[in-house]
Amino acid sequence: MKEVSLYIHIPFCIKKCLYCDFLSFPASEKVQESYFNALLHEIDSYKDKLSGYSVKSIFFGGGTPSLPNALWIKRTMDTLRSSYNLTDDCEITMEMNPATEAAEKLNIYRKAGINRLSIGLQSTNDTELKKLGRMHDYDTFLKCYEDARQAGFENINIDIMSALPGQSIDSYEKTVRRVVQLSPEHISAYSLIIEEGTPFYDMYGDEAETEYRTGENGDSSYLPTEDEDRQMYELTLKILEESGYHRYEISNYAKKDLECRHNITYWTRGNYVGFGIGAASLLENVRWNNTRVLASYTAYWNDNIGTYEDIICDREELDQKAQMEEYMFLGLRLVEGVSISKFEEYFGIKLIDVYNDIVKNFTNEGLLVINGDKLGLTKKGLDVSNYVMSEFLL
Ligand code: SF4
Repeated sequence: MKEVSLYIHIPFCIKKCLYCDFLSFPASEKVQESYFNALLHEIDSYKDKLSGYSVKSIFFGGGTPSLPNALWIKRTMDTLRSSYNLTDDCEITMEMNPATEAAEKLNIYRKAGINRLSIGLQSTNDTELKKLGRMHDYDTFLKCYEDARQAGFENINIDIMSALPGQSIDSYEKTVRRVVQLSPEHISAYSLIIEEGTPFYDMYGDEAETEYRTGENGDSSYLPTEDEDRQMYELTLKILEESGYHRYEISNYAKKDLECRHNITYWTRGNYVGFGIGAASLLENVRWNNTRVLASYTAYWNDNIGTYEDIICDREELDQKAQMEEYMFLGLRLVEGVSISKFEEYFGIKLIDVYNDIVKNFTNEGLLVINGDKLGLTKKGLDVSNYVMSEFLL
């Protein structure tokens, strides 16, 4: 049986964090109820299309999936189980914001079948958390983490971020070391990106007044320099690898055999179907995105108003060139690299015949390495991964 992964988007948040450009917003319970009803219809509607597939992973992302009444997550899981063939060891992850945690909720998630949590901590420094506009402090996170362990969660990811406003290298190191002490199974460590359209962009983006970025206004709201950012990146690698985590993707670290299977589906171009507004899908080399408009989504699935074209955007059948580019661009994010033999199996042409010059140049420069069947970035290559990966666009 072929395999597929499923993504469920829950777009609700208590309030918007200052750096966030995800599709998320506060909403009343009534709006949430209407959304979940639509979501259950959408999930059910794909059951014939996916009847030949077994579901190897499910990911509830957002937004804040832990914000709505936990019974909605249970009902969503019930619908998923009745509509699809879940594998016995299906990895079922839910993102949690510590500000929304409650012990009873965790028990409901466990009983519903969620077996992995991804908790957004970002920093253990309360001042940094406040500057990000996060709704929790470090103590709230600790309670959430302990409750999750109590509830029986044995597979937990913690998200942390570097290059935060006012963050020193010492403070970042403290965050990493405290997280390691908790011994989660998985750690995601990203560097803050200032996205257009966010309050942070107004404060720190290219057009912003420089005093916000340099700290000249006397407070400590400046962003770390590129050099400091690089030192934080090196620290992450050093501390996590010394502590028994291996880096398997540019920004992701795991204990042995506890890599996130769901995200590996994305990086290896496996089949996945996304439900909910803004969710992306890739099924047998057809890509599409769901509408980002909540009203169109609920009107279609709850009241039969509008057409399928109104709620599906950017549907595209990928040609071979696009597939090869994606295979390289996404696969090189994985530290083990891409499989040379699978490239030939998929595309009927040798990888080296398509990318001869690029592979030759980058291996000479020490940025790429061939190791048996795998072509991957070296440590030096991982440090400049965006540059290397972009050269694989044909
Ligand atoms: S909790 Fe996450 S999704 Fe919600 S606003 Fe903050 S960063 Fe965005």
